[in-house]
Amino acid sequence: MRYVSTRDTAGLPGKRFSDILLEGLAADGGLYLPESYPAVSAETLEDWRVLLERDGYAALAFEIIRLFVDDIPDDDLRGIVDRAYAPTKFLDPAIVPVTAMADGLWLAHLSNGPSAAFKDMAMQLLGELFAYELGRRGESITIVGATSGDTGSSAEYALRGKPGVRVFMLSPLGRMTPFQQAQMFSIDDPAIVNVAVEGVFDDCQDLVKELNGDAEFKARHRLGAVNSINWARLMAQVVYYFAAWLRVPGDEPVSFAVPSGNFGNIAAGHIAREMGLPIHRLILATNENNVLEEFFGTGRYRIRGTEETLATSSPSMDISKASNFERFVFDLLGRDAARVRSLFVDELADGEFDLSGTPEFAGQLDRFGFVSGASTHQDRLDEIRRVLADDGLMIDPHTADAVHVARLSGVEGRIVVLETALPVKFAETIVEATGQEPPRPERFVGIEDLPRHVVEIPRDANALRALIEG
Ligand SMILES: *Cc1c(COP(=O)(O)O)cnc(C)c1O
Repeated sequence: MRYVSTRDTAGLPGKRFSDILLEGLAADGGLYLPESYPAVSAETLEDWRVLLERDGYAALAFEIIRLFVDDIPDDDLRGIVDRAYAPTKFLDPAIVPVTAMADGLWLAHLSNGPSAAFKDMAMQLLGELFAYELGRRGESITIVGATSGDTGSSAEYALRGKPGVRVFMLSPLGRMTPFQQAQMFSIDDPAIVNVAVEGVFDDCQDLVKELNGDAEFKARHRLGAVNSINWARLMAQVVYYFAAWLRVPGDEPVSFAVPSGNFGNIAAGHIAREMGLPIHRLILATNENNVLEEFFGTGRYRIRGTEETLATSSPSMDISKASNFERFVFDLLGRDAARVRSLFVDELADGEFDLSGTPEFAGQLDRFGFVSGASTHQDRLDEIRRVLADDGLMIDPHTADAVHVARLSGVEGRIVVLETALPVKFAETIVEATGQEPPRPERFVGIEDLPRHVVEIPRDANALRALIEG
């Protein structure tokens, strides 16, 4: 299996998995995808149903991931996957259990991992892969990242204690929920440095970009990233689409409803569908920041400025542009890298591109199956209240967004909604909706009272450089 960039107009030879793992973004600014998607037959799916039932999630993950990774020996890869998806790390040993809801919807629980958000599903694997590959090469890496909440804690829980890995995670001072702050700042590990920046999330991201733009500094400290454009994260996420499909009884196609921001989660659903998993529709749900809902409704992709990006009650979806979207457009346009480059480099320089008049966009639904919808704050509150009343389940505001969009989508047949966080992370909104505090899993009891490990810096790249230089 080789990997190509979405912007490779020169037809360069494909790269191996372990090279793109550490590289992240391609040198031409594009994103990596496999040269082709491996096909999975109905027979294999039936074998995997037995495997998942008998040997568990990690066994299924190994079978799927080895289709994409041929430069790590099977025995090593099995160890990596077994460590990433050890049942004891997750609140439920099934790792991704599914539950039926009152009116024909199903919920696939992706947030049973160490930081209680679906990002753990990918980050746990990424942490193990990084440790393995760095060990094999005798190298080290300094991860410098920016987070508005979920990514930071998920990355820190996955990378703590990994030899050769240091982490500097920037967050906007005082702007994460108290629970999210406690999750990150309670980590006591000399190789994990929490950096609270006087500013907003975009300021944090700008500092990360500035350091990465400093080629000399970047090379000297071996700066790396764990953001959602890393192919290995998508690859890990493909697995739970298969697991959820296999766990919903029957073998008819199902649709998936996905709370979306950077298009990482649902891009994995697109790939699973391309591999042959019987998925009817991919229902993309956004909040008020509806860049993607607008595209699938109109064909027009219009990115937003900071002023136009709203702070909502589903903050992990408050995006101004969707960093993984280019991968889907590459497939939509028949993998025409020249067209992708002209859209994402030339046209997006003016903030938008428009595919509404093209045959590819007109044929999108039949070929790729995407439909979209959006929710408001009130919709999410109503949905949280309703699911609690009807199903006795408490869902978080991101999941509520997808439940709302799924119900109104008009899509027939069974719909699996992906649950992307536990409600305990967003207690304020849960209390507003239901008047009740969300349940708190044992492992998070008292984390607000633990000593905090965090360094405050001004919005200044030199302050960050000094910190990294130590
Ligand atoms: C990151 C995140 C999302 C958005 O996922 P994308 O892959 O960026 O589309 C949705 N919900 C929660 C809780 C998240 O943490």
